[in-house]
Parts: sequence; C-alpha cells; structure tokens
Amino acid sequence: MSTVLTARSRWIRIRDHLIEAGAPAFRFRQLLSAWQSSSAETFADVHSLPAALRADLAERFGPRLHPLTLLDVQQDEQVEKVLFASETGARIETVVSHYRAGWDSMCVSSQAGCGLGCTFCATGAVGLVRNLSADEIVAQVMHPHWIRDGRPRPASVAFMGMGEALANPHLFDALTLLTDEGFAGMSARRVTVSTVGFAPNLARLVERHPQVTITLSVHSPFSQERARMIPLEERFPLAQNLDILDRHAAVNRRKTYLAYLLIAGVNDSDGHLGALADLVRRRSRPELFHISVIRYNEAAGAVPEYRAPSSRHVDEFVNGLLHRGVHATRRRQLGTGIDAACGQLHATYLALDSRRVAPVDTELIPITPVSC
Ligand code: SF4
Repeated sequence: MSTVLTARSRWIRIRDHLIEAGAPAFRFRQLLSAWQSSSAETFADVHSLPAALRADLAERFGPRLHPLTLLDVQQDEQVEKVLFASETGARIETVVSHYRAGWDSMCVSSQAGCGLGCTFCATGAVGLVRNLSADEIVAQVMHPHWIRDGRPRPASVAFMGMGEALANPHLFDALTLLTDEGFAGMSARRVTVSTVGFAPNLARLVERHPQVTITLSVHSPFSQERARMIPLEERFPLAQNLDILDRHAAVNRRKTYLAYLLIAGVNDSDGHLGALADLVRRRSRPELFHISVIRYNEAAGAVPEYRAPSSRHVDEFVNGLLHRGVHATRRRQLGTGIDAACGQLHATYLALDSRRVAPVDTELIPITPVSC
C-alpha cells in the first residue's frame, strides 16, 4: 500500500471486522474483486461470499457495497452526467466525457456544495453542505453503472466536480483507495486533483502522492483581482501555492497545469496576458508548467456581469502565451448543454436539498474551517 489508509475508511473497518470474525483472508479479496469488477451493488449481490457473511456485512456496514445510489442519468452527444444519492440523502454529481479519440475521462465531486465562494462558480453559490467521505468519492468511480454492458471503466479521473478537493481531509484516503494496487489500482498519473490553492494540503499532496497530476486555478496574475474571484487568495496566496509547485517540479519532475478561466473584460487584456506569461517564466522549471485556457461558462449563481469572451479571443489569448514561450492550450469543453462543464455543476437538486440534507449529516466529518 503506497500510503496508509486511516481507520475512517470503510474498507479498513470491513477488513478488520473480517479478521476479528475469523474469516479466511481470501474472503476480503473476494469482496474487493466484486467491488472492482462486478455488477454487485449490495453485499447481498456478492454471491462468492457465504450467505451468513453477506448478511453480517450488510447488518454492520449497511446493505450497499457502494455507498451511493444512482438516481438519474443525463446525456448529450459526448457527455454523461450522473446524479447519485449518498446513504444520508446528499446529492452528488459525477460527469464522464467520451472523447472522440476513444478514451473517457471522469470528473468526480469531493464535496456536496463548496464553501469557498469563488465568484465564477455555481457550486460556490450553493455553499458547503458537507465533505464527502473517502468511500463516497471512490464510489463515484467504482460504481457498477460505468461498466454495464461490458464498457471499460473511464481511464482517468479528475477532481473537478463539485467542491475544493484539498479542503476535504478525506481526499487522501480516497487517493490511496483509487491508486493502491490492493484496491482500485488506477495509475496515479491518470488522477488529477484540481485546486484553487489550499496550500497546506497542496504541500501534503505533493509529498504523499507525488505522481498525481495537479491543476492549480490561477484566473488572474494580480493578487487583489484574484482575491475578488477566489476569496481563498487572501488566506493562501497564489505565490505560496506556486512556491510549493516549484519544489514539486524540482523534486518530482512532474508537469503541472495552471488553469486560466477567461472572462470577457475581466482578465483577458494584454496586461493579463503578459503578467500571466511572466508568472510562468519566473518558475524554476517553466517548461514543466502548462496553462489550460478555459472559456467562461455563464453558470447559474455566478456574478451576473461575467461574460464569455468570443471563441476567437480565447484562441488569440492562447496564441499570445505561445508567442511568449509558455506552454498553453485551450481546454476543450464538453457538456455545456447539460450544465456539466467547468463551473456548471451547480445541481439544482443540491440547492433545493441543502437545508434539509445538512442536519442529517452532522455525524459526518468536521471540516477544515475556511474564511472566504
Ligand atoms: S471553483 Fe472550486 S473551490 Fe471555488 S467555489 Fe467552485 S467548487 Fe469551490
């Protein structure tokens, strides 16, 4: 195991229970095998286990093998957006993009809502309902829905759904469950954690999971302006996060992505372009930084004055970065038609449910308080 799972992980509690109950070691492996590759949704569906053991596990850990229930699926040509319900009733959105090149990428949520209040983001307008547990995060990836009809499970996972992943302490257990060969066994390089810059946990991430890909949201090279877009800037400035990523580049030699959400008349001037390019050129290993320019989506709940720039201007901005010697591409966006693109995972049902979900979730997870 690459890093140690905490006792909060359900899998650790299940394994410990099986040991205490005197079950042979292969029973745990049978259970994991069903979790990884079968259509079993409940313990009762795991027919490789004796009936008495299935009943015992269901009684102790709840009936569901995956602690999420599929509620709804929306699809457009290339995107599938799925709504799950947790065992406590929270709603969680997960999105899979089917790229024409032949591979699938999954966007998972780390929190129900988000408390960081970024002004361009619909999820931020909802507020934080609660952190998702590691098991709930991983269940979005491992749910049997994705492998029905013989489909392969999506090859890459990005923490770009609802929530700031690094504000959730359960992220680290989730990453271990996803990447450890004894559990989901995904390549860490195919897992991306996106953050607006929660510096203490960014430092922890590069230390504990150095192969995981990181995307840091920049959105403005100017601190005061960035703080208006991302209030967390006042607590953990961009410069502090970039210092961590400089060390990461020097030690682990991993490419890091900087996301830049282009908003018309806000952060798309020549002055922004030049300062952004300088920001990258000042890095200790600038060749290991890549800017992904994203056209703003007019998401519900965001500042009403924000507008999308023209598609041509986005291309010009990318070309301007390239001319200044900075690696940059425009990020393709799929799923705008079903509100599944960046900043659009606002979940009408979450907004509707937030007042009623919060009280029943009070047993779950003290969150790291963030002033924003
Ligand atoms: S952009 Fe991310 S951190 Fe900011 S409010 Fe939205 S979900 Fe939260």
